[in-house]
Amino acid sequence: MKAVQFSEHGDRDVIEYGDFPDPEIDRDEVLVDIKAGALNHLDVWTRRGMPGIDLDMPHIPGSDGAGVVEEVGEGVTRFEPGDRVAVTAGLYCGDCEFCRHGEESMCVRFQIKGEHTRGVHSEKAAVPEDNLVPVPEGVDWEVAGSASLVFQTAWRMLLDRGELKPSEKILVLGASGGVGHAAVQIADYVGAEVYATASTDEKLGYAEDCGADHVINYEDEDFAAQIRDLTGRRGVDMVVDHIGAATWSDSLKSLAKGGRIVTCGATTGGQPETNINRIFWNQLEVIGSTMATPGQVDDALELVWDGTFEPRIRETLPMSEAARAHELLENREGFGKVVVIPDSEL
Ligand SMILES: [Zn+2]
Repeated sequence: MKAVQFSEHGDRDVIEYGDFPDPEIDRDEVLVDIKAGALNHLDVWTRRGMPGIDLDMPHIPGSDGAGVVEEVGEGVTRFEPGDRVAVTAGLYCGDCEFCRHGEESMCVRFQIKGEHTRGVHSEKAAVPEDNLVPVPEGVDWEVAGSASLVFQTAWRMLLDRGELKPSEKILVLGASGGVGHAAVQIADYVGAEVYATASTDEKLGYAEDCGADHVINYEDEDFAAQIRDLTGRRGVDMVVDHIGAATWSDSLKSLAKGGRIVTCGATTGGQPETNINRIFWNQLEVIGSTMATPGQVDDALELVWDGTFEPRIRETLPMSEAARAHELLENREGFGKVVVIPDSEL
């Protein structure tokens, strides 16, 4: 088969699209004929290399994908050949104390397919049965292959970890990214008042389409000052910050008393300066979140499949242009998800 792959960490030029041995399935795995996949920021980190993660090379990246079941292992009970499926990338052990409490994304052995193990940006992929969800007829492959990671992440972060309420005000930073645009849609669905930032007026227009009530161009304006102005100096109840070092301090400044900051990533760096005085005096909460439980994945994707939520497609590229797909993410070009499709499917 053909697969996106790299044999060493580095810049975008390490990415190739070429032959790779066909995957073999274990008894609890499913062989999926991949129709579409999508990129996430962790694909960029994985390509560059992260401390403590030692990959089997060559590595196939990709945590999001969807396709048709081609073959099932003898222990598989939920799927059969011909079924339409999407990948959910969280890998968990099933028997640690957190898994036993239904908190699979807190698993002590938690990993993400594509980041810690081989991913799905290839013509075929072997995927554990537990890491697939059914996709109804009528859902486009681009939607099916791009929704899972960002919608499950935003769903758990806002509703479970953050406990967002309809009466609250929420600020979503970086609303043009995958998680950002999912968070805007979920917050709007809940009924919260949504503030969103992005770097261009065009991206802000898309954020409004996704449900943002107020938009701030962070290139032109100090977003913390804007939030103070727009909320009568009160601040917002929740900030979604997956940007990290570049925004952390202003995110804390944007919070009302008792407000909470939720984070699922730190694309500009994970070690910002932080004002502890502001945290205790204003009684703020800092809340981390990663991926989601299988039940939360089902809940979030159900609302994608019925059209309530929609992953916006920034660009669709053949897998042979995966390096360009990485460039779109690294240069923060466009709005929403970057989709890749096996060249043989085009
Ligand atoms: Zn576990």
